[in-house]
Amino acid sequence: MPTEQTGYDPSLGRKFVFVTGGVMSGLGKGITAASTGRLLANAGFDVTAVKIDPYLNVDAGTMNPFQHGEVYVLKDGGEVDLDLGNYERFLDTEMTSDHNVTTGKVYREVIEKERAGDYLGRTVQIIPHITDDIKRRIREAAAGSDVCIVEVGGTVGDIEGMPYLEALRQFAHEQDDEDILFTHVTLVPYSKNGEQKTKPTQHSVKELRSIGLQPDILVGRCADPLDDQTREKIALFCDVPTDAVFSNPDVADIYRVPLVVEDEGLDEYVMAQLDIDGEALPPEERDTVWRETVTREPEGSVDVALVGKYGLEDAYISIHESLKHAGLEKRVDVDRQWVHSEDLADGHDDQLAGVDGVVIPGGFGSRGTEGKVEAIRYCREHDVPLLGLCLGFQLSVVEFARNVLGLEGAHSAELDEGTPHPVIDLLPEQKRMEDMGGTMRLGAHETDLREGTLARELYGAPTCTERHRHRYEVNPEYIPALEDAGMVFSGTSGNRMEVLELPDHPYFLGTQFHPEFRSRPTRVSPPFVGFLDAIATAETPARVGGDA
Ligand code: GLN
Repeated sequence: MPTEQTGYDPSLGRKFVFVTGGVMSGLGKGITAASTGRLLANAGFDVTAVKIDPYLNVDAGTMNPFQHGEVYVLKDGGEVDLDLGNYERFLDTEMTSDHNVTTGKVYREVIEKERAGDYLGRTVQIIPHITDDIKRRIREAAAGSDVCIVEVGGTVGDIEGMPYLEALRQFAHEQDDEDILFTHVTLVPYSKNGEQKTKPTQHSVKELRSIGLQPDILVGRCADPLDDQTREKIALFCDVPTDAVFSNPDVADIYRVPLVVEDEGLDEYVMAQLDIDGEALPPEERDTVWRETVTREPEGSVDVALVGKYGLEDAYISIHESLKHAGLEKRVDVDRQWVHSEDLADGHDDQLAGVDGVVIPGGFGSRGTEGKVEAIRYCREHDVPLLGLCLGFQLSVVEFARNVLGLEGAHSAELDEGTPHPVIDLLPEQKRMEDMGGTMRLGAHETDLREGTLARELYGAPTCTERHRHRYEVNPEYIPALEDAGMVFSGTSGNRMEVLELPDHPYFLGTQFHPEFRSRPTRVSPPFVGFLDAIATAETPARVGGDA
């Protein structure tokens, strides 16, 4: 029965797997959850996910990548937590911002309703108003799917997470026609004498039970698989059957977690508990593409430099993953090296000597941009394959304007307001809009790809649809001069330049959009595949000063 407060019809999306974490954050509960989802999808189910972030930010748009990792962009333009990227990659699905529930979103909605008088003078409280809104969001995001995985960020006991756990408790209590499973992921550390310790798990389950939640499944994150004795102990003290205690040992690569989870039988257990095992495809008919893809053995390796300002993998996680996907497809191990753009001041491009290719990621603000321009010049002059993404695309235009067109001081108006040559700038129509805010171009937009170009060949189609997150554009006044000097704008969207390339170079490709947000292990983004192809066929003089 729908609750009166929410008035929401839960006729769709009746199978939920709630995932909480204990002991400490960063255990990889999102990967465990996404891996379980992948296996359910392999068994023929339509799986979706909701990530709950108990912070007060409305979305991740304003968050600093250094603290929180990359801001992931969805097709609807939602700027969300990077975990949504993992769900999209593992489930090979496209989600919307409704799949990222934050405290900011929930409170804003409830407060706006209160201001509008919707609560008819009642006292507005965390229970029931906030908890009802949380439940409504989860059910709405699940609508249309067979199974919805709901991951609660943070760890049990965090003050911010309390309203969510209370909402989940009510959720389980109020619906007879929904199947709900609570999975708790905890840490099982080793003691000095090599014993697997269960006390942290016991304490965290105790905490969970004190707020009325009894886990159905426990997953122990440990360096190794859990011993039988450890599992029995956890089962006894946490009040679950022994076969509901699973291991999630360390693996070389996150994409292998679904294989481990499958070996453990977690997927079968989940399906049985959700009462969908009867509808699952028989094991021999399940989708094996994932397993085949992620277990490909590399036949060689390449060194790729990522020239960014944050020396932190999480800040560029989607690029990192896209390179990995392309590596799986091409059967090469992509050794990703982080090069701090600030270190690449004039003449210090020796850090790039010997690399097989360079990726320049997106970014905001001027810090480190001169180093990126330097890296682009290096790639252009030494025929080193280059992939420039968003800011990397824009700085490729800046570099070309300065060093090929001879426009001294050329820059992006975002980074140097007083530049004599704003080759990257807001478009006139954006300048008019600026006063009203909202100049950021976000989400999926279509790009036309010009016949006979590399971009068209890579995508194998006259258009591509990719996600965006930027404000500035190539200044139309400079396009004729750039083109006369040999830069080709092979992708456009109206008067916006979307893709650039240099035909005389082994691979010099820039995209104003972010292809990294749509790459999947099983469906690799074309610019990344092309990049590795070019590296494979590049003649080695590129390795100036290198070991070739
Ligand atoms: N700062 C640039 C702009 O706003 C590029 C943004 C990005 O790289 N995501 O246009």
